[in-house]
Amino acid sequence: MKIRGISRELLDGLLYLGEHTRDDAGTPVEFAGILREEGGVIQDVCLLPGTTSGENYASLFLDMMPLDTHIAGSVHSHPNGVLSPSDADLRFFSRVGRYHIIVGPPYSERRWGCFLVNGTPCDLGVIG
Ligand SMILES: [Zn+2]
Repeated sequence: MKIRGISRELLDGLLYLGEHTRDDAGTPVEFAGILREEGGVIQDVCLLPGTTSGENYASLFLDMMPLDTHIAGSVHSHPNGVLSPSDADLRFFSRVGRYHIIVGPPYSERRWGCFLVNGTPCDLGVIG
């Protein structure tokens, strides 16, 4: 299935999650999830609980991988605001889907990026 874009509603939700995922002390922490598409539009996220680092979420992900042909890729946050994939991210990307979104503070409409498996930025349309 060719991906045409991401729904605005989901994108807003991902930015919201990035802003509001915090540890018990109120410190922003990473969240991570799997993106699902329907009809070529990314419109769902399955969250992976208990994720705090790239290495950690990669192994969690493999345990929790849904058997699902609609997986489009992944999303996670970078609370430090660096909107580019780390080496650990790139190893993770190669294991799931084709489109990988990173969101960061201040989680406004422009504070996100989409990357292909090799880390190349990708222009993902926002639909709706
Ligand atoms: Zn990352």
